[in-house]
Amino acid sequence: MLHSTLRPREVVRHPLVRRTLTVAAVRDLAPAMRRITLTGADLDGFAADGPEDHVKVFFPDPVTGVLTLPEFTASGPRTAGGGELIARDFTPRAFRPATADRPAELDIDFVLHGETAPATAWATRAAVGDRLTIGGPRGSKLPPEGLASAVLVADPTALPALMRWIELLPADAAVTAVVVVPDDSYRWYVAEAVRRVEWILIEEPDDAARAGNLLSVVRGLRFGPSTYVWAAGEATSLIPVRRYLRRELGFDKTRAVVDGYWLRGTSNRDHHAPLDPADPEE
Ligand SMILES: Cc1cc2nc3c(=O)[nH]c(=O)nc-3n(C[C@H](O)[C@H](O)[C@H](O)COP(=O)(O)OP(=O)(O)OC[C@H]3O[C@@H](n4cnc5c(N)ncnc54)[C@H](O)[C@@H]3O)c2cc1C
Repeated sequence: MLHSTLRPREVVRHPLVRRTLTVAAVRDLAPAMRRITLTGADLDGFAADGPEDHVKVFFPDPVTGVLTLPEFTASGPRTAGGGELIARDFTPRAFRPATADRPAELDIDFVLHGETAPATAWATRAAVGDRLTIGGPRGSKLPPEGLASAVLVADPTALPALMRWIELLPADAAVTAVVVVPDDSYRWYVAEAVRRVEWILIEEPDDAARAGNLLSVVRGLRFGPSTYVWAAGEATSLIPVRRYLRRELGFDKTRAVVDGYWLRGTSNRDHHAPLDPADPEE
């Protein structure tokens, strides 16, 4: 087992605020990736300083169009009328505070998959002037101190967070990014990177093959005592990687975070649930 020189990550807490914003722009970045730019006075005080910060986004029921919004109370989110709260997690890809010349803006990048799921249905139809309510982030987990290199692993849903990692890591850190995508239409996205990165793109439409290819790529990487690993994407595909990191390399959660951003066949997966039910995080 490699002895780690990494220090625990600092967490900065933010007040939980509900913000209702207006769509200012809609831009297709790839056939299945859409950037929605939001604006509005409610962005005052917005902060997202950690690479994998996330907001709760509240969507209308895609069939009835009914939107239920929460009130944030001291004991957590509540719905006044007892309606069904439909919320999903998304990454604030970029936040631009207001300047003298333009209002504050927040970009969220949506992966479009099918047409019926609440988040994807909303993003597919989104138009300038539409309203969207978000809550959070509740806190920002800053990159670890003492890091000399990072290995970042992402599928399309985690690409926004991966790009934020690239922006927030120390300038002298060596970064390897392993990106697992169904086709080559995401190449443009990684081209936005603001620093030198060793990119490994796995283009593979088949789920099972994708997981296998990912594990063999990760097995081939070199990890030093101050290498930090962050991996996020479809939960089942990441189980072999997590087992390798935890069981074979002995990396605990201070050295490697593996986060299931969604689970094939399950709506609204809670990413706090164990990624590997056979080996929950202690
Ligand atoms: C911390 C965090 C940050 C996230 N950031 C982003 C982000 O910035 N951008 C982003 O696009 N997603 C992001 N996600 C993932 C997103 O929350 C899920 O994909 C969510 O399930 C989408 O909601 P939905 O209403 O479209 O689908 P759901 O109603 O949740 O699911 C309906 C069906 O679609 C399937 N499904 C869900 N997502 C996908 C997908 N991407 N591809 C194929 N099938 C899918 C489910 O397995 C289910 O069978 C993030 C998740 C977490 C936990």
